[in-house]
Amino acid sequence: MDPFADTLRRLRETFRSGRTRAAEFRAAQLEGLGRFLRDNKQLLQDALAKDLRKSPLESDMSELIICQNEVSLAIKNLHSWMKDEPVSTNMLTKLSSAFIRKEPFGLILIIAPWNYPVNLTLVPLVGALAAGNCVILKPSEISKSTEKVLAEVLPQYLDQSCFAVVLGGPQETQQLLENRFDHIFFTGTPHVGKIVMAAATKHLTPVTLELGGKSPCYVDDDCDPQTVANRVVWFRYFNAGQTCVAPDYVLCSRETQERLLPAIQSAITRFYGDDPKSSPNLSRIVNQKHFKRLQGLLGCGRVAIGGQSDESERYIAPTVLVDVQETEPVMQEEIFGPILPIVTVRGLDEAVDFITRREKPLALYAFSNNSQVVNQMLERTSSGSFGGNEGFVYLTVPSLPFGGVGHSGMGRYHGKFSFDTFSHHRACLMASPGLEKLNEVRYPPYSDWSQKF
Ligand code: NAD
Repeated sequence: MDPFADTLRRLRETFRSGRTRAAEFRAAQLEGLGRFLRDNKQLLQDALAKDLRKSPLESDMSELIICQNEVSLAIKNLHSWMKDEPVSTNMLTKLSSAFIRKEPFGLILIIAPWNYPVNLTLVPLVGALAAGNCVILKPSEISKSTEKVLAEVLPQYLDQSCFAVVLGGPQETQQLLENRFDHIFFTGTPHVGKIVMAAATKHLTPVTLELGGKSPCYVDDDCDPQTVANRVVWFRYFNAGQTCVAPDYVLCSRETQERLLPAIQSAITRFYGDDPKSSPNLSRIVNQKHFKRLQGLLGCGRVAIGGQSDESERYIAPTVLVDVQETEPVMQEEIFGPILPIVTVRGLDEAVDFITRREKPLALYAFSNNSQVVNQMLERTSSGSFGGNEGFVYLTVPSLPFGGVGHSGMGRYHGKFSFDTFSHHRACLMASPGLEKLNEVRYPPYSDWSQKF
């Protein structure tokens, strides 16, 4: 007995009725989502604090404001995004009109992770609803407090004939995945991404996979160490390093490492105080399992900064490791915590070689006062996104697509890219029912084709 059968049937019937296609219906759902975010700001901040001890400001910056901006952008542009896109014709179709119609796929499944549990469920939801689809949302079971708000409060703001929240962990998600969807949008680890893609294959369902991996950060000798340290420290330790696009490790020369270490220490002290554990601005590790995993990584290389931990609070200090070996676990798996290894290289060429020998990362960062160095790094590598002298603030620019490449994912979203991801681009050609004389030339028999001209 499939526990999801009734929900899926209900949503499919709604989609078949055509109600979700109307611009007014889409706008009403987006407005509902906007109201949900406004009315429940405190509830969401409290939930994020319970799940990850996120500070209200980090919750606002990286979750609530981003969602609200996506909602506003979609409402503002809905009509223009929905418009047919006229395209040019060729000699054979000169008298016809050709255009691309953006039509909804149907029933969408969104599966989300725990690290930005509001942002990574609602931002894709904006795109799916704007594109006129019905949606099943599967939040992460690990960020429990946020999951509860999404399951109990969010549906009150949306038309429940086109939207449902489904709860559960790996087992329930796999059972859900046995069903047929028209598109699956998954954010999480590459390991589970493969499980999702294998399940989708059975039904030929298209997928968007937003995955993770190790995002490198190259620091050139020609740099101001304190400026680089400020930026890297903020992006590495934001949300206690539990960010898919956080710089996972630094590549630099030994001389630059020696200049960077005091600058990193100074930035940590300035941002989180002498005792970062008592800082209200440092999140905690999401659960015991991840805490233990990260504690294990502290044994790699040599601790140059931080290294303290407290299991009772799931606290790990902002840490920098040096002298790490490529073969150690900290350089093999995505760290996803407040630990930053530095790997020394002899310069740009060696850094490029180090990066391109590995899977294509989700993000890549390069810091240098010399724009040629930054451009070389951009030119000679591939990654989902790129930050030159900057961390992941590009995420706040909705006119930039967000997504991975190779092992870090497939597909893209944010802003109009989300709308397009959740729309089928239907090729349409409209010809006149008349003008048949003109069409005569193309019909068989082809033997007297030349005589027709
Ligand atoms: P995860 O892959 O463990 O879980 C993601 C979702 O899949 C959850 O809803 C979970 O319930 C479900 N799931 C877990 N195991 C499953 C299984 N065996 N079968 C079916 N479903 C399963 O990921 P996570 O730990 O929640 O999130 C961390 C990962 O997500 C990191 O690798 C991070 O880099 C990545 N991530 C990527 C992005 C991005 O935008 N590219 C954003 C955030 C996180």
